[in-house]
Amino acid sequence: MIYNEEFETLPREVLEALQLKRLQQVVQRVYHTVGHYRAAFDEAGVKPDDIKSLADLARLPFTTKQDLRDNYPFGLFAVPMSSVVRLHASSGTTGRATVVGYTKRDIDIWSELMARCFAAAGLNKNDIIHNAYGYGLFTGGLGAHYGAERLGASVIPMSGGNTKRQLMILQDFGPTAICCTPSYALNLAEQGRAMGVDMRNLKLRVGIFGAEPWSDKMRDDIESALNIKALNIYGLSEVMGPGVSMECIEGLSGMHIFEDHFLTEIIDPETGAVLPCGEKGELVFTTITKEAFPLIRFRSRDITTLNIAPCRCGRTHVRMDRVMGRSDDMLIIRGVNVFPSQIEEIVVQQASLSPHYVLEVHREGHLDELDVLVERRPEIPGPLSIAARSSVEHEVEREIKGLIGISTKVRVVEPGTLQRSQGKAVRVIDKRPKN
Ligand code: ADP
Ligand code: ZN
Repeated sequence: MIYNEEFETLPREVLEALQLKRLQQVVQRVYHTVGHYRAAFDEAGVKPDDIKSLADLARLPFTTKQDLRDNYPFGLFAVPMSSVVRLHASSGTTGRATVVGYTKRDIDIWSELMARCFAAAGLNKNDIIHNAYGYGLFTGGLGAHYGAERLGASVIPMSGGNTKRQLMILQDFGPTAICCTPSYALNLAEQGRAMGVDMRNLKLRVGIFGAEPWSDKMRDDIESALNIKALNIYGLSEVMGPGVSMECIEGLSGMHIFEDHFLTEIIDPETGAVLPCGEKGELVFTTITKEAFPLIRFRSRDITTLNIAPCRCGRTHVRMDRVMGRSDDMLIIRGVNVFPSQIEEIVVQQASLSPHYVLEVHREGHLDELDVLVERRPEIPGPLSIAARSSVEHEVEREIKGLIGISTKVRVVEPGTLQRSQGKAVRVIDKRPKN
């Protein structure tokens, strides 16, 4: 089902005309209300009136995470505090948290966009949604909550953690949908199995998973462990929170970005040049309807590609591919750029290995070394013999060397050895000395 049929299926020309009108308005507004933008536009020699077409967007300066930090906490707000009804902060995965604010209308739009996401997952008011995204400063919990209520579904405000209680509620309340991080979904499935819960026979039909990168193989694992359809949802607090884009259940191939509210560009992260549609690069967002915290050309640091081809579901909004990783998650090991997701894809190809893995970087002399610790699948009889273990370890090392070009040390460990996530999984442990 399409929640907002009119706006989600606008013909491209009509959509682009709407985008331009909204862009011109937001550019005027930030120029006159936010000191940072006025200074940045003046320095770039561009005035709000110069924006005459969508292509003129590229004339505006980027906004970076550093700009947000420099204006901590409220310096980029475009409305007085009396109009702000909600504050959130990013989870601070990398560096100091950034603070975002919402007016009543911002919350309203966010709720609608999250309702669109649930509808894209095939849900409606008859569904019961188990919301295990964390409630609090993190945008995940409340964002999904308001969207589920807007849809008219029954929402269970579980929040993250307390896995035993979650398992009890999953059995007793019979939710038909679950939202959480993909790593937490696996964790729930695993603990449920260990407690003897028949996880494949819960009432769950669909899962809406996001907030961290995950692979198609991990999707297969979650789908078979929980006997559900697992869909991808994307968002970031700076731009709004969850619900910036959502995969549709009809297409299952990329997440539609709600383009009546966000403009998207893909740039070369090194040069800042805008890349043609279809090329891989860094996602850049401009919010065109937000009141409290509008963002102009915000560099997300998330690496992906865009696809403008029509989708089976009828939505006309562009689709983004899975996020490969963030440019700041990228490890540089002896000169080679490595994303944790690339290693994940190789590891999960092995029948005897699980998607529970962690990358440890350390320094030997002047050289960076990468150790890949990965758990054996619990279904495989174990522990593995020394010969079997070293054979799969060498196989993965060879694959990584062949596909990514770096030498690593792979170590297969027993199920349950590695720390489980309650929210976003920690995939990299950097043991290198800080200079
Ligand atoms: P923080 O930047 O502190 O982690 P957020 O909670 O706002 O704060 O996280 C947003 C980030 O989470 C995105 O920029 C992206 O890197 C990641 N993310 C969110 N959804 C997905 C997804 N579906 N796939 C991959 N990464 C995602
Ligand atoms: Zn679609």
